[in-house]
Amino acid sequence: MASRNVAPRSASAEVAALLESPEIGALIQHLQETRWTGRPGFPIRTMVGMALAKSMYALPTWAKLVRLVSEHAALQAALGCDGDVPSQWACYRFARKLRENGDALDACIARVIAELHRRLPDYGRDVAIDASDMPAYANGQRYLFNHGPERERFSDPDASWGHRSAVSTRRGGGFYGFKLQAAVCSKTGLPVAWEVESARANESTFVASLLDTAKARGFVVETCAMDKAYDNNRVYDECIERDCQPIVPLKRTPPIVRGEHLPPACEHGPWRFAGSDYRRGAAKWRCPTGECAPASTWVRADRLRPLIPRETLRWKGLYRRRAAIEREFGRLKHEWALLPLRVRGLDRVKLHADLTVLAKLVTTLERARRIGYQKHEGVRQAGPLRKY
Ligand SMILES: [Zn+2]
Repeated sequence: MASRNVAPRSASAEVAALLESPEIGALIQHLQETRWTGRPGFPIRTMVGMALAKSMYALPTWAKLVRLVSEHAALQAALGCDGDVPSQWACYRFARKLRENGDALDACIARVIAELHRRLPDYGRDVAIDASDMPAYANGQRYLFNHGPERERFSDPDASWGHRSAVSTRRGGGFYGFKLQAAVCSKTGLPVAWEVESARANESTFVASLLDTAKARGFVVETCAMDKAYDNNRVYDECIERDCQPIVPLKRTPPIVRGEHLPPACEHGPWRFAGSDYRRGAAKWRCPTGECAPASTWVRADRLRPLIPRETLRWKGLYRRRAAIEREFGRLKHEWALLPLRVRGLDRVKLHADLTVLAKLVTTLERARRIGYQKHEGVRQAGPLRKY
């Protein structure tokens, strides 16, 4: 593909391109119309550019961004603030304005996602849902010091203790903070829907709202891969009610140990899957030799024997692609500065997550417009170039 040889654009040129995109332009215009009175601030375009640049340069704080922009003539030109860089206080005020105009930001995210979806028809058909830890910018110590009095005021009262699983060489265990609950397309690796909650919230309670958000954003989610933590009847029912097939391994509960999930069997061996009827909500199983009478039977689908049976290659392939969400969490945290958190309070952490994902999505969209959607310039996607 000839377009592979396109030279990478500088980051400041990329910031300028994002600010020219119609999706971000509409956000700037909306915020201009609701411009708060009083202080004559910096142009909204400059402030939106600052917010996107923070994630693109993977900087944890506004203060560091302000210092970078102050020393960076090309970035000042891209942001339209030559020689007059907004202070970190101006950035804090703008962040508050964005929190107060959450609808405008949501609409902007929806526009970017819709345009990506138009270019990538497979985006959002098969998703993976999981939660990931976001340790708070605070410690959750219960006592002020060893054997000291109990703490009465917490620096981030919205954070709470939760559990995270082991990753690579890091042990699993308790952590204090928030969780990012997300649905990610397992083919393109792009986020579809996400929510931030205090760490103690049970992750399986977010499946319904994530799928509903995906639907509201125009996706028809056909399958949803999740790990064992999501193996319960409520999650199963919530997926089926939304015409989405859950791809979840079974926990080893007593009914599973007894083998209640196994397909029918006869003296010729375990029966083979022979297709599902989605309208009927049942899967057909057949005697391996066909000698039994009847030689096949319909089994009503439930959590133990779903319409895409766990024995099939399709289920195994979809479950393997669940790893897309782990990769996307890694990219957001390490390449787009989702972590470390340097804000406190659920509202601020939510805004930070929204801006991080928006910066990533709109960058992907701009690159797709310029050079086509592909593996390029560090936006490494489990992409459509790969054959599954
Ligand atoms: Zn038989």
